[in-house]
Amino acid sequence: MLPILNDEDDISTFNQQTAHIGTSFVGDNSTSTHFDSNQYNIPLNLGGPRYVCCFCGAQMWYEERKNKSRNERNPRFTMCCMEGKVSLPPFKQTPSLLATLLNYKGGRTAYKFRHNIRVYNSMFQFTSIGGKIDSEINRRLGPYVFKINGQNHHKIGSLLPVDGERSKFAQLYIYDTENEVSNRINALGYDVQQSGVEENIVKELMEMLDQTNQIVKAFRMAKERFKEPDYIPVKLRLIGARMNDGQQYTNLISSEVAALIVGDVDQLIDKRDIIIEHRSNGLRRISDLHPAFMPMQYPLLFPYGEDGFHLNIPYQKWNHTTKTKRGTVTAREFYVYMLQFRLNQGFTLFLGGKLFHQYITDAFTSVEGMRLDYNLRNQKKFRTEIFQGVVDAFTRGDTDGNMIGKRIILPASFTGGPRYYMQNYQDAMAICTYYGYPDLFITFTCNSRWPEIIAALKFIDGQRVEDRPDISW
Ligand SMILES: [Zn+2]
Repeated sequence: MLPILNDEDDISTFNQQTAHIGTSFVGDNSTSTHFDSNQYNIPLNLGGPRYVCCFCGAQMWYEERKNKSRNERNPRFTMCCMEGKVSLPPFKQTPSLLATLLNYKGGRTAYKFRHNIRVYNSMFQFTSIGGKIDSEINRRLGPYVFKINGQNHHKIGSLLPVDGERSKFAQLYIYDTENEVSNRINALGYDVQQSGVEENIVKELMEMLDQTNQIVKAFRMAKERFKEPDYIPVKLRLIGARMNDGQQYTNLISSEVAALIVGDVDQLIDKRDIIIEHRSNGLRRISDLHPAFMPMQYPLLFPYGEDGFHLNIPYQKWNHTTKTKRGTVTAREFYVYMLQFRLNQGFTLFLGGKLFHQYITDAFTSVEGMRLDYNLRNQKKFRTEIFQGVVDAFTRGDTDGNMIGKRIILPASFTGGPRYYMQNYQDAMAICTYYGYPDLFITFTCNSRWPEIIAALKFIDGQRVEDRPDISW
C-alpha cells in the first residue's frame, strides 16, 4: 500500500525504502517498483508475485514477507505454509484430457466446458451440497459469484437406489452402468440441448476418472459385486484414517481409500469412517473432517481423488519455530496452503473457474462451521466474557423474539460475530477520543486491473481475473 507522504523528508525516506525493493528482485525485468524522486506521485506497482517460498514453493509478493519492517534479500513467508511448518505432498499434473478442456486457449470446446464446468462436475460428484445456492446474484451484470445461504454440508445416499427411483450421485457409478453416460446426463433433470453439455465429453471424463481417481475405483469395485443376480448385499466403508498421515495424500491406492463390508459393521471400523449402506432411503450428512469430503464433491478439481483435510496431518518437525500443543495442521492452515499458487506442481484447482469459486466458498464455510462448533462446545470458557466491559451493555438490551432459546455466546475473537463488531467499534471510538475525529474516511476496493493482479494472472496463459477470486476479490 502506498504510504501517505507529507513533506520532503518523508519522500526521501520513502525512496530509500522502495529503491531497495526495486533492486532486490532477481531477474526482474519489468518496469515496476523503482521510484524516481521527481515522480513520487505515480501509482506504486509492486509487480507480480515473483518470490518463491523456500519451503513450499508458493509464488509470493515481496510485500507478503514476514518481518515487513526489514528489507530482506531472501524473504520468508508465513501466510502460505507458516515457514515450512505445514507441508503437503505436491499435486500431480492435470490429466491430459482435463488439461485440454481447461486450457484457456483451447478454442470453443474448452470455452463451453469452462462455462458449464459446475454442471459437468455435478454429473460426477458423489455427494450433494447442502445449503441454499443463491443463483439470483448471477442474473445481474458483473462477474460470476458463487453465493450460498444457510448451513453448508455434503450428503451421500446409498450404493443402490431404492426401487422405482432413478440413480443419482454416487449410485451412478454402480447402478445400470451400461447406460451410464445417458444416466448421468438425465440425472441433471433438464434439457441437454439447453444445458450445452456434450455427450462425448461426459464419456471421456468418465473414462479418465475410471483410470485416475481412487474413489471412483472404490465405487467400481462395489459395482462388480452387484453384477451377479444373486449377489450378497455389501456396504462400502470409506476409510477415514490414513496409514501415514499427511504424506501419502496424492498417491493413495483404492484399498487405502475404501473397503467393502459384507454383513454387519464390526467393531474394527473407525468412528471416522463413512459407511455407505447397500440400499436405503434418503441422504446422510458426512463429516467435513473426512479426507474424502472435498474430493467426493469436486472430482474435476481433484481428478486423482486426492485427500482433503483431516485431523491427523502433522506439522513438519524439522522446522518448528514455535511449539504448539496441538501438533497437527488446522483446517484454516490446510486451506490456506491449498490456495497458494505453486509453479513447481500441478495446479488443477486454479484452472477450475466457477468450480474454484464454489470450492473456496465450501472451504470457507467448512472452516467457519468448525469454529462455530468449537465455540458451541467450549461455552463454559467464554461465559465470563459477557460480564466484562462494554459487551455487557450490548447484550443487556436484547429483547426480540429470536433471542429466545439457548443462548450461544460467540466471543469477540470470532470474526464477524456481534462481539467482534462491538469491540472494533468501541476500539475505533477510543482512538477517536484520544487522537480526535478523522478528517477523511477512506475505503479501498480491489481493482481487477491493478498491475499486480494482471502480472499474477500471467502464470496461466489466457486466464481471466474473474477466475481467480483468491487474488482479486
Ligand atoms: Zn511457504
